[in-house]
Amino acid sequence: MSLYESEIHEECGVFGVIAKEPTDVANISYYGLYALQHRGQESCGIVVNDDGVFSSYKDLGLVSEVFSADTLSRLPKGTMAVGHCRYGTTGGTNRNNCQPIEVNHQKGHMALAHNGNLSNAAELRNSLELTGAIFHTTSDTETIAYIVTKERLKTPSIEDALSSAMNIIDGAYSLVLMSPQKLLCARDPYGFRPLCYGQTPDGTYVVASESCALKAVGAEFIRDVEPGEILVFGPNGIVSRKEHCGKKRKKLCIFEYIYFARPDSVIDTVSVHQARIRAGKILAKVHPVEADVVMGVPDSGLDAALGFSQESGIPYGIGLIKNKYIGRTFISPGQNARMDQVKIKLNAIEESVKGKRVVLIDDSIVRGTTCGRIVKLIREAGAKEIHMRISAPPFLHPCYYGTDIDSRENLIACKHSVEEIAEIIGADSLGYLPVSELGSLIGNNEYCSACFDGDYPTEIPKDTRKNRFEQKLSEVRKANEK
Ligand code: SF4
Repeated sequence: MSLYESEIHEECGVFGVIAKEPTDVANISYYGLYALQHRGQESCGIVVNDDGVFSSYKDLGLVSEVFSADTLSRLPKGTMAVGHCRYGTTGGTNRNNCQPIEVNHQKGHMALAHNGNLSNAAELRNSLELTGAIFHTTSDTETIAYIVTKERLKTPSIEDALSSAMNIIDGAYSLVLMSPQKLLCARDPYGFRPLCYGQTPDGTYVVASESCALKAVGAEFIRDVEPGEILVFGPNGIVSRKEHCGKKRKKLCIFEYIYFARPDSVIDTVSVHQARIRAGKILAKVHPVEADVVMGVPDSGLDAALGFSQESGIPYGIGLIKNKYIGRTFISPGQNARMDQVKIKLNAIEESVKGKRVVLIDDSIVRGTTCGRIVKLIREAGAKEIHMRISAPPFLHPCYYGTDIDSRENLIACKHSVEEIAEIIGADSLGYLPVSELGSLIGNNEYCSACFDGDYPTEIPKDTRKNRFEQKLSEVRKANEK
């Protein structure tokens, strides 16, 4: 749950818009990014295309902090825009890493927004640097931009360049790319990250990481972009290029359904809300328990709690209230032992839990610290028993595809048995969703579950450090100073 430090963070959100006539595309992007804010809260940006002239605004902060009415009004009207909100899974938090990335090259210019992580980024960047490439950021996205640009110099169109680039880059990427004439989007051949598009009643096309952002700007969902597909929106309408489709087995991130995505989104025709309800129902079947009330940890535990209640017949209750106004700028009480940040962010309703046997549902346990504090909170509110149920299997492996589930030493399930974890977090019992049941959440087996079972769809990256490019830079500097 991203509310708390040290827990899992989402990746990024991408957004694109193309209208028939010049219009307020910056505003449309602003509302789209607002709907995608849960995917990244470190920085955001919008690039507007006004008849081939690009204008942009990007900064660190939430969409509501970066874009005031004043900054938005300074962006011109245009026919296209690309937007991005970022949580940096590779590369640090600095202004240079804000997206969309803009590139000027011999044949024109482009803006690029990316969600995901490449599995061969370090090798590609090394080889580009050996040919004289100079990078300005420490994110994977610049590597993609570089490769697309290089290919553009050899190919007749931006879509050909993107297609060639897709033969070179490997890993997770959902991209929105804008040239002076066209808006493009592409999803990697595994389809790790979601991407879809829709249309507003006036004919404006909108591309977004999640369908909730289409609805937010009044667009009707048309369909998901297929894994490996490139969509080109331009003067000739929409052209779909599928030369990369079907080249890999589809591997959509299953954790999008469990935690990352908004419950009102539909990804690859499966409702996130329904997937979470199913997770709760499965938990009730595989880890039944006698109890008086089922409740979820806000937000992503709520739907699964409803499913658990529906299946078990145990009444659904609301026992935890989240302070909705705590954002990225929340100052952590740190070492101040008298102040518990979980208590500041979350409160238990005594009347709901006092004297009761409580089933508590959450989406995951990473280190166990936050989970332990929540259990304590409910215990202090008078719960008689607390039975923790987790709507995901235990995390046992790092993720290399755009999330920050990393080092195994930070994952409690790598070091302790389920019974030991129950004891550590102070629960009377603990039950995880079995790995074998993940397919039941979405009704197919076309998903990635590598962080749970270690079955990686791509080669494991050679350099897996989050800040690998910064570290490499400092190593090079040190070597040069000698
Ligand atoms: Fe998603 Fe886990 Fe696969 Fe990463 S490793 S893409 S978090 S399922």
